[in-house]
Amino acid sequence: MSSDFTLRRARLVAILKDLGYIRSSKVERAMLAVPRELFVPDDVREYAYDDRPLPIGYGQTISAPSIVAHMTELLDPRPGDRVLEIGTGSGYQAAILAEIVGYQGHVWSIERIPELAEFARRNLERTGYIDRVTVIVGDGSLGYKPEAPYDRIMVTAAAPRIPEPLVEQLKPGGRLVAPVGPLPFQVLVVVDKREDGSIEVRRDLEVVFVPLIGEYGWKNEREAILQLSNSGVII
Ligand code: SAH
Repeated sequence: MSSDFTLRRARLVAILKDLGYIRSSKVERAMLAVPRELFVPDDVREYAYDDRPLPIGYGQTISAPSIVAHMTELLDPRPGDRVLEIGTGSGYQAAILAEIVGYQGHVWSIERIPELAEFARRNLERTGYIDRVTVIVGDGSLGYKPEAPYDRIMVTAAAPRIPEPLVEQLKPGGRLVAPVGPLPFQVLVVVDKREDGSIEVRRDLEVVFVPLIGEYGWKNEREAILQLSNSGVII
């Protein structure tokens, strides 16, 4: 069974490479190394290598592999980097980042829902990444000051705007990637903090994420969705 998953993983990675979601050998190696089937609940395990998001409970999802690959490429983490992730979910994206930063680097990942933080810790433990990832329960829209500043910050839930504390906690020369906008569609935003402290922002693909709920996020899920009808968009 596990060799079957290994084969399916290799096939999916080849497809994501063909489609241009995987563009570097470091992201390719990480996507080949991390067993996504061990980061999803039992009842959806057979879909682990379909390119789609899957439910992980509490109304949350693990992102589609193509989005994980693309966002990791945009973030461009390097071996030895200190990385902050907001929205641990299953722990899969954290494991991909940990695989790239290696034992010289570290990933701090913040999750709002304690049960999911526990789910992620278990997944990271059984796949051998727990030494390189610290999972923290809290409001990640505030960042995580005790370990700041960070080389890289990835937000994996949709914020109404780029949370200011995250930009503050970025090192000069650092980069942040976040989906920004109301449900159901957001745009991926890449923020570079230059060495002189100035900020450069660019927009990338349109994506679909669950909302970031917190002080610098949405107040609750309803607010994130109501924003849609206020904007006059009908789907
Ligand atoms: N990166 C995850 C998927 C993220 S789903 C993975 O690889 O599986 C988005 C997650 O963000 C959800 O688990 C949700 O509970 C969490 N979240 C939402 N708002 C948050 C906040 N303010 N701080 C931390 N986590 C938050």
